[in-house]
Amino acid sequence: MRALHKHHAGPELALIQKPVPEPGPRDVLIRVKKAGICGTDRHIWEWDAWAAGRIPVGITTGHEFVGVIERTGAAATRYAPGLRVSAEGHISPGTGYNARTGNAHIASDMVILGVDRDGCFADYVCVPEENVWPVHESIPDHVAAVLDPLGNAVHTVMSAGVSARTVLVTGVGIIGLMAVTVAKAAGASRIFVTDIDPKRLALARTLGAVEAYDAREGDGWVADIRKQTRGDGPDVLLEMSGSPPAIDAGFRALRMGGTAALLGIPSRPITFDLNSHVVFKGATVLGINGRKMFETWYQMEALLLSGRLRLEEIITHRIPLEQFRRGFELMRTGEGIKVVLEVG
Ligand code: ZN
Repeated sequence: MRALHKHHAGPELALIQKPVPEPGPRDVLIRVKKAGICGTDRHIWEWDAWAAGRIPVGITTGHEFVGVIERTGAAATRYAPGLRVSAEGHISPGTGYNARTGNAHIASDMVILGVDRDGCFADYVCVPEENVWPVHESIPDHVAAVLDPLGNAVHTVMSAGVSARTVLVTGVGIIGLMAVTVAKAAGASRIFVTDIDPKRLALARTLGAVEAYDAREGDGWVADIRKQTRGDGPDVLLEMSGSPPAIDAGFRALRMGGTAALLGIPSRPITFDLNSHVVFKGATVLGINGRKMFETWYQMEALLLSGRLRLEEIITHRIPLEQFRRGFELMRTGEGIKVVLEVG
């Protein structure tokens, strides 16, 4: 089969031929139809410090996909071949404290598809049957291929609680844009966003943001957002940028007693005004990692079936697997937002 894999300890990926993987007794073998390129895959492509310290050379990359079950292991009896499925890419043996208390997504013994074990940028991928998510018939393939990042957005929004609240999203990359449409669908009253990319700011407005501030013009927006929220500031901060100035400004804007859900990842330890931003503010701060298994997946399906999510404008490109170089380039230059590889 074809597989996009990490062929050396350096930049880029190579499309090679590999044997079709053999499913373990509790695994299912899935024929991949479409797969999303994620920011994580870009780190692996670029071979930054994180990738060099984490990614085994020789691994098949990719963790966001939709496909069809081809074959099941001897002890995997839940699903039959032919079923259209996606899968949760965080894989835990299910025996540790968090896995046994409803928090398998942050299990310390978790391994990640396409990061720690062979992923889905290939004709076939194996996953444990517990990780399989049957896809509702009304959800098209290109949307089903990006349930993983959509789940990040849904987990962030639902953890913070946005219904009838004002929301600030700092950073509208792929997941930030998804968070805008999810927050809108989940009943946020008004959504404010900030970013440094005019195209993404415009798209955030299209998706329902009432104000989209260009952070390159300074942080005068903090005062403006406060003016628009009775002087208090937004009830909820969804931090999606990982950028230290955005994190600082976002917390300055957040109202006293507000809730901040943090998904963005700074590239190194940062300086942060804990006193003003959290202690004296009485803020609730939530770290967001992955998606709840499988509460987030049910919420995601419910939101998708409500018809209120707008993802078509976020999934900007669908290109054949062979053109993977162009896919990564579209993401690197910012010309594309979410790029989906057409595998089979
Ligand atoms: Zn991803």
